[in-house]
Amino acid sequence: ALIPVRRALISVSDKTGLIPFAQALAKAGAEILSTGGTAKAIRDAGIPVKDVSDHTGFPEIMDGRVKTLVPQIHGGILARRDLPEHLAAMEEHKIAPIDLVCVNLYPFEETVARKADAETTIENIDIGGPAMIRAAAKNHDFVAILTDPAQYAEVETALAAGGTDITLRRRLAGQAYARTAAYDSAIATWFADERGEAFPDRLAISGRRRQTLRYGENPHQQAAFYVTDDRAGVATAKQVQGKELSYNNLNDTDAAFECVAEFDEPTVVIVKHANPCGIATGASMAEAWDRALACDPVSAFGGIVALNRTLDEATAKRISAIFTEVIVAPDATPEAEAVLAAKKNLRLLLTGGLPDPSAQAPSFRSLAGGFLVQGRDAGRITLADLKVVTKRTPTEQELTDLLFAFRVAKHVKSNAIIYAKAGATVGIGAGQMSRVDSARIAAWKAGEAAKAAGLAEALTIGSVAASDAFFPFADGLETIIAAGATAVIQPGGSMRDNEVIAAADAAGIAMVMTGMRHFRH
Ligand code: 5GP
Repeated sequence: ALIPVRRALISVSDKTGLIPFAQALAKAGAEILSTGGTAKAIRDAGIPVKDVSDHTGFPEIMDGRVKTLVPQIHGGILARRDLPEHLAAMEEHKIAPIDLVCVNLYPFEETVARKADAETTIENIDIGGPAMIRAAAKNHDFVAILTDPAQYAEVETALAAGGTDITLRRRLAGQAYARTAAYDSAIATWFADERGEAFPDRLAISGRRRQTLRYGENPHQQAAFYVTDDRAGVATAKQVQGKELSYNNLNDTDAAFECVAEFDEPTVVIVKHANPCGIATGASMAEAWDRALACDPVSAFGGIVALNRTLDEATAKRISAIFTEVIVAPDATPEAEAVLAAKKNLRLLLTGGLPDPSAQAPSFRSLAGGFLVQGRDAGRITLADLKVVTKRTPTEQELTDLLFAFRVAKHVKSNAIIYAKAGATVGIGAGQMSRVDSARIAAWKAGEAAKAAGLAEALTIGSVAASDAFFPFADGLETIIAAGATAVIQPGGSMRDNEVIAAADAAGIAMVMTGMRHFRH
């Protein structure tokens, strides 16, 4: 049975969509009760509204800390309409039933985000709002609870049809508790931060479901995509065309886009299974694409391509010459979009901006019975951080390429060895359990790419190499030297650094240490 709304209480900080919603309530014949600011907005729009203080006979006191925390309100929300004792209590204490509650909370999260002082932040902890939300959600057998303007349209439709049904009210109730849980979790995180702790005693990860995905990494796994904030990146992307995004697409696209955002020059990265299989800078995006593709043209098939500049027509034509799953870029020219429109399945994502590589944000990893949380790897090595440890000092060009390669290494699964030349990767060894194997695989792949391109010698000859972590022994470095690299960048800090440096000196190559590791497991 539908429950018509005879009386509604609206108390909202975010007044988005408020007026049309109040109009729909008035049209459905509901009496509207509201707190100070909300009542004023509704009244100004010419819609009849009664102040909560007039309804209860009790004024808003203590700067609004106590507005709705009175029995007339909470009794009206919590009373079961099917229990004689509850009805008798309403009668005795002159409590009128409230059939719909629409509340969104003081903007605590936004107040923290704008780094307000402690006093302001605490004042933005909503008390009466969550109390009403939780009360209305508990009594969802009789009361509808709205906590987000995104829910208004659906409820407006229900009102026009005569009232809310239990399925809708139960779903709204679940969403309401998710909202108050997230709110309190944000408050707990702020208190931990105030104590100088990065993480609170209890951590609830809170996000908004953007999309239920067809399946997870494999078809027998369920999956969904949640958005936690509005930082530019995959979460803000608009899909211009193409098939529905899958779990793996999203994961790979994020890896690609966060990687390409590290570079200032026009850069293209091609990702497979969350690992880059080619990254290059270029004078144009088209040139960057060609050079990225040359690194590993075999793996690039079915890849995810990320650009750090507007996608232009020439580049779109070249990319669409091979099978590509996703292209992500800040923007695209109309001509480029027209080129890709012919490839119906190809997903094109435009984000309007690049992820900030220095952004501080938590990252999560699940394990049996819990999860790990850490700050994201926002480390960025620059020229000033490098320490030359060999007799030979790298040349200017080598230094540029060393920094490029090390920045790539940050985005390659450990153990990572990257060979690079002239602002392009020429061999990438990813995810091996031994560093020597990563060095060998990267060199072997460079050899294959050279063969495919009809070149006489492997592209590792005269290249530089980056290692995401130190060399525990000299063997990894010796593999790199044998492959023909002339300079190496690595964090340093091994017990055997001296042996490693001696091997570099013996071969006459240059080596720099960063003092920063970029594991990525
Ligand atoms: P208004 O703009 O209508 O003056 O205030 C709306 C806000 O007040 C809403 O965000 C609502 O959650 C909050 N609110 C409603 N009742 C109370 C209360 O009794 N105490 C506190 N602290 N906040 C309340």
